[in-house]
Amino acid sequence: MMPPPVIDPKPDPAAAAAGGAEVAAFSPPPRARLLVVDDQPVNIHALFSVFADDHDVFAATSGEQALAFCQQTPPDLILLDVVMHGMDGLEVCRRIKSDPELRGIPVVFVTGQNNPDEEAACWDVGAVDFITKPINARTVRNRVRAHLTLKHQADLLRRLATADGLTGLPNRRQFDERMEAEWQRARRSGTRLALLMIDIDHFKAFNDSVGHLAGDDCLRAVAVAIDSAMRRPGDLAARLGGEEFGCILPETESAGALGVAERVQQAIGRLRIGHPASPHGSVSASIGVAVATPADGGKPADLLKAADAQLYSAKRDGRARIAVAGD
Ligand code: GH3
Ligand code: MG
Ligand code: MG
Repeated sequence: MMPPPVIDPKPDPAAAAAGGAEVAAFSPPPRARLLVVDDQPVNIHALFSVFADDHDVFAATSGEQALAFCQQTPPDLILLDVVMHGMDGLEVCRRIKSDPELRGIPVVFVTGQNNPDEEAACWDVGAVDFITKPINARTVRNRVRAHLTLKHQADLLRRLATADGLTGLPNRRQFDERMEAEWQRARRSGTRLALLMIDIDHFKAFNDSVGHLAGDDCLRAVAVAIDSAMRRPGDLAARLGGEEFGCILPETESAGALGVAERVQQAIGRLRIGHPASPHGSVSASIGVAVATPADGGKPADLLKAADAQLYSAKRDGRARIAVAGD
């Protein structure tokens, strides 16, 4: 039989340079926050001594205390006793897995030995793994490291999948998801939902006159300017593609949305990026504003269309201006 082909072990320096950051990002976080939940202090001490050197270990002696801790400062991983006085570990896990903010936290159960029913119950409520008492320090350490690495990678992938690579703003995917969520929220509460569509003026000519790299720098600067104009925690500014941006403004009337659009234009103006091929002299943007009352019916695409129509009218009327639906 032929031996398997020998793979050249010399790393390609260019590939190493390009991939270095990702490799570092894909290793486990240097220090994680672990929550140990057990009603027996002796068990907490055993796990504390295994992890105290490598991680920040927090302890809770009841299910209620564990949930309160998670609500305040979610840990990276939970080591959870099954049998406890009051709320048991299974119920704690059930509640964590039904909370959208907390369900990503891996839960490793610490079970009594040789209890298949208990182990089955742990899987049923959403455990990522379980270890048996008395604990084996090396096994626990390796299991926890593996789960922390997976969690870290999942978090990283989620960030990569929802951020725009050039500007770091939320991307189109996150914009669409948020739009849908805010539409449903506004529909239930009967509140208004405003949208800004922002498009840089004469940007093709900007690229043609100063070059594509300067064009990219401009996009990054404009992204920061737009984001700085968002003042409420619920506002979202995203890059929708090319030189087009969108802002979702929950619970906002048209007067308020117009105010935000004016702040966006002022922030872009303050950048004072010279634009040799624009009649305005420096980089400017046109903005279309639309507001919907989702409880009255319709769908997110209608709001997008309405804001787009206003953007078109701002362009047609000379650019570097704001157009608001209904005005
Ligand atoms: P208008 O005032 O009507 O908006 O004209 P415009 O030139 O801005 O619009 P158009 O849609 O014709 O051109 C958009 C240009 O944006 C095309 C392309 O050169 C540029 N562009 C799109 N994405 C990028 C990018 O990621 N980087 C750079 N540098 N330029 C981009
Ligand atoms: Mg444009
Ligand atoms: Mg465009």
